[in-house]
Amino acid sequence: MGKERGRERWLTSQPWGLVEEPTLILDTRRAIANIESMARKAERSQVRLRPHFKTHQSAEIGEWFRERGVSAITVSSVAMAEYFVSHQWQDVTIAFPVNLRQIEAVSHLCQRAKIGLLFESVESVRHVAAKLKAEALAWIKIDTGYHRTGIDWDDLESCRSVARAIDQCPNLELAGLLTHAGQTYRASSSEQIRAIFHRTAERMNLARDGLAPTGEPVCLSVGDTPSCSLVDHFDQVDEVRPGNFVFYDLMQWLIGSCSQEQIAVGVACPVVAKHDDRREIVIYGGAVHLSKEFVYDAAGRKIYGGIALPAETGWTAMRSASYLAAISQEHGIVRADKELFATTEIGDLLVIIPVHSCLTANLLREYLTLDGQRMTVG
Ligand code: PLP
Repeated sequence: MGKERGRERWLTSQPWGLVEEPTLILDTRRAIANIESMARKAERSQVRLRPHFKTHQSAEIGEWFRERGVSAITVSSVAMAEYFVSHQWQDVTIAFPVNLRQIEAVSHLCQRAKIGLLFESVESVRHVAAKLKAEALAWIKIDTGYHRTGIDWDDLESCRSVARAIDQCPNLELAGLLTHAGQTYRASSSEQIRAIFHRTAERMNLARDGLAPTGEPVCLSVGDTPSCSLVDHFDQVDEVRPGNFVFYDLMQWLIGSCSQEQIAVGVACPVVAKHDDRREIVIYGGAVHLSKEFVYDAAGRKIYGGIALPAETGWTAMRSASYLAAISQEHGIVRADKELFATTEIGDLLVIIPVHSCLTANLLREYLTLDGQRMTVG
């Protein structure tokens, strides 16, 4: 690991001495601080924080949220809901359009906990109504501009039809309207992200007003990490569901959602080769560990990960002139600055700051904390 960094020390000290293959290193203190900061903002705004647990997928990390007063969560699959319900989470929204082929498993889950399901068509509601053997909460999925899925926020007629169909089903209770403004990931400034949050809240309120004739007032649920990190106050909504903020990552840092000091995960990757002529370092760490997600930075470089070095307490700041420039299944190619290239030896570790921590955690399935504890993904 370079002469000046004391190669032998890093090879044996915690947690680096435990690393044999690409390993997801977790800075617990940073993750807990991220939870604290989001929980405090939700409290100040008097909204429910229903964090998305697909980012960490870990019962142990879930407990850090519970200790901070969180009792309601979001997941993105039936399997994830089963995992967290079996770890005593009793209020779980499956924030993915209900999959009719899993209705039996959903029915079992609904007998064990309060489960929220997402609907965006009368057809789905009717199918579920015919097969569901227990009570569930129903959320209507609204598209406020991301255009992934959901009923357009101004298509009030469709919204009302789905609400009426839910009303007619004795096992379903309308919980509210839910949206994910993922277009914040395409924004080019913090101001734009804040503007998206406020426009989303406005559109959700208009959709709710349009529903009023069908009955009870309902909740508004929004949430994505960029906007939840950048607005000071969650105005005009009842619930927020950010997930990625627990770890953050390179993409969030480039968007401006977090500082480098808030990024709580890095992947320790062994150096396996060096190429003098191209000033490239080859690491054991590729698409099966990091995913193939990339970002372009301000200089137009296509980046598969940021580069940091192991340090005594965590890892260093990212080196702006070095980056993960290419990946194949197991290889990663680091384009290195002069100093990094000169001081890095085969057998050292580099810490790759992942582009998208949710995908990386899902692929690596185990965390190694800075003090050497291992925690698995459910
Ligand atoms: N809600 C839904 C429906 C989502 O799809 C996601 C993420 O994709 C989230 C909440 C959490 O957003 P983020 O990953 O930006 O924290």
